[in-house]
Order: sequence, then structure tokens, then C-alpha cells
Amino acid sequence: QNPQNVGLIIGVTGIVGNSLAEILPVSDTPGGPWKVYGVARRPRPSWNADHPVHYIQCDVSDPKDTQTKLSPLNDVTHIFWVTWANRPTEAECCKINGSMLENVLDALMPNAPNLTHICIQTGHKHYIGPFEAFGKIKPHDTPFIEDVPRLDAPNFYYTLEDIAFEACKKKEGMTWSVHRPAVIFGFSPYSMMNMLDSLIVYAAICKHENVPLKFPGTKTAWNCYFVASDADLIAEQQIWCSVDPNGKNEAFNCSNGDVFKWKHLWKVLAEKFDVEYEELDENQEYVSLAERMKDKGPVWDEIVKKNNLTPTKLEEVATFWFADLMLYGECMLDSMNKSKEHGFFGFRNSQNSLISVIDKMKAHKIVP
Ligand code: NDP
Repeated sequence: QNPQNVGLIIGVTGIVGNSLAEILPVSDTPGGPWKVYGVARRPRPSWNADHPVHYIQCDVSDPKDTQTKLSPLNDVTHIFWVTWANRPTEAECCKINGSMLENVLDALMPNAPNLTHICIQTGHKHYIGPFEAFGKIKPHDTPFIEDVPRLDAPNFYYTLEDIAFEACKKKEGMTWSVHRPAVIFGFSPYSMMNMLDSLIVYAAICKHENVPLKFPGTKTAWNCYFVASDADLIAEQQIWCSVDPNGKNEAFNCSNGDVFKWKHLWKVLAEKFDVEYEELDENQEYVSLAERMKDKGPVWDEIVKKNNLTPTKLEEVATFWFADLMLYGECMLDSMNKSKEHGFFGFRNSQNSLISVIDKMKAHKIVP
């Protein structure tokens, strides 16, 4: 008889980590019933606390802390890598992200005899290059397909892949999968890049100040076709790869399977906050969301207090720089053919993804 599947989520409070924490323990999840451990540095937040997960506070960039806290987890069968660290240069990103993954593998490989699979979440920057290379190197042509050669530039996504490949070579029967989402639509007030949470917080501020919801992006972003990746869908694809032989030792794109335009979703966002919707004024000067929101910290504190919300700081719940980046140029599309051809048929309606994130933000009292 196979041992029980035991998942270790590194980044359990992140945008996909929180979805994994919600979905993995559910009794009819493929491969279940799963036992689940979840790792993050900060104490467990209230919005994550209901998931039946053994929560471990550990900094995986610290080898000693990682050894102490993770080497006793000798029943782990699957690792879900849904974390990252940012540094000023990509060379430094390669170093820190690589050593984080190595620390976790060093703690587990000698101690967890039933370790069989590792899911590595990366993203579209596999095809575009890291933030610092934007506009400097030629990205792959769209729609992105998985099996193109790597770009000739340092990229921590490549570092993570190589470490996972090496680990699998060292242990017979161990497999990997790589997951490459587009911009993620998900719920996590702790995420380092959360486009929707940022736009939702912006909508809540517009409502509070009784001003129309102006689109903070460019005309290109307003009108172009966009793809997004629902966080629950990414979790489902990772779980599928964890249990289905067709999902092993492959890299997969993971997007919702539809396209949308911001000019349409903007109306939905406005309606959900009962704030006046405004068409993009093409003659209006571009002002980034970060610029628009730079003095709104005290306004946010007021909104939190007035509505008795879960206490948060604006810089915690919103990552305006990331929303700005996503809403600046034309969205680059990917292909889901490979994932479907291998047998993962999951999809999401992106408009419903948006609504579901708004509903979660409201239910957890992050926004009014
Ligand atoms: P998030 O920023 O949403 O979450 C990161 C998680 O990791 C949090 O739980 C955080 O909690 C935890 N964490 C961070 N550092 C450490 C550490 N040293 N030790 C232990 N836990 C840590 O992650 P994402 O899902 O956004 O990112 C994962 C990958 O997905 C990245 O490579 C990213 O580039 C990629 N991606 C993300 C997209 C997005 O829209 N967000 C789009 C496409 C790709 P705490 O801070 O408390 O430790």
C-alpha cells in the first residue's frame, strides 16, 4: 500500500500557497486524504488559520532554521514550491532563490524517504526574462509555449528548475513539475505581487473618497486581450502533476483558458464596490497607481477603523507597483495546449475569478 500523501507547502500564506492550503486537505482532492504542512516566516494570519494545515514558522533562506524545523518532517512525499525572494539584481535573485530551495532539499532529501515529487512554480518571466531585462532582451514570441529554448539572460526560474532536475537525478523515482502562470488572480494579503488585491483596495479607497474608479493603466492595457491565472486553478494543476504520471517531469503553462479585456472587468469591479465606473479617458495624462496611492496610508487606516476590518497596513495589502507593471503594456498570451494534451483540463472564467477574489477579500474583512 502506498504511504499517505503528505504535502509540504513552502509559502503557505502566499497567493497560491493559501489556495493549496485550502484545497489539499479537502477529502476528495486527488491523491487524498492529504496531510499538509505549510511554511512561512510570519506568524499565521487569521485568514489562513481555518485550513487544516500544520503551520511552521521558518525562514527557508536560513539553513540552520530550515534544518531545525524541516528535517524532522520525515513523512513528506510532495513539495509545493510557491515562494520567492526579491533582490536588486537578477544575479542576486538566482543566488537567494537557489539557496532557499537547496536549504529545503538538504533538510528533506536525507530524512524523508518517501519524497517523490516537487512542484516548482515559476511564471511567464521564463519567456520574457526577469524584470531587469524588460525591454533589453527579445522575449519569446506569443502565444508562449513551454518547450522553447531558455533566453540568454540570468533568471532565477532557470536556477530553480536546474536544482529540481539535479535533486530528481539523485533520488530514484523522484519527479518534478514546473508551473508557469500568467498574472495570478488570487487572495493573499501577504503576497509580494498581488495585482487584484491592489486594484480591489484601490476600488475601496475610491468608494471611501466618493470618487469615480479611474483606470490607472494605459490605453493599450485597457483595450488588449488579457490572460490571467486563477490561484485555485494553479493549485489544482500542481496537485494533478503530483498524482498523475502524465504530469510528471514536464513544465506547463497555467492560465485560465479564456481571454478578457480590462475595459470589461473594470465595470465588474466598479459594481462590486458600488463606485462610479469611468471609461478610460484617452487624452488624460498617465499617472501610475503607485503615484495615485502614495499618500493614502492614513486613508487606509481610517477605512480599516471605520469598517472594523482585519488590521492591515496599506503597503501590506497592496502592491501597486506590480499592478502598474501589469497594466502598462500589452498582455502577452500563452498557450494551454500542452497542459490539455497531457490531461489537465481545468479552466476558469476570469470574470468569476475576479468576483471570487473580491468576495474572499470581503469575507475575511480585508476590504469593506
Ligand atoms: P507570494 O509572494 O504570494 O507568497 C510568498 C510566500 O512565501 C508567503 O507565504 C511568504 O510568507 C513566504 N515566504 C517568503 N519568503 C520566505 C522565506 N524566506 N521562508 C519561508 N517562507 C517565505 O508568492 P507567489 O506565489 O507570487 O510567487 C511564487 C512564484 O510565482 C514566484 O517565482 C513568482 O515570480 C511567480 N509568479 C507570481 C505571479 C503573481 O501574480 N504573484 C505571476 C506569475 C508568476 P512570509 O512573508 O510570511 O514568509
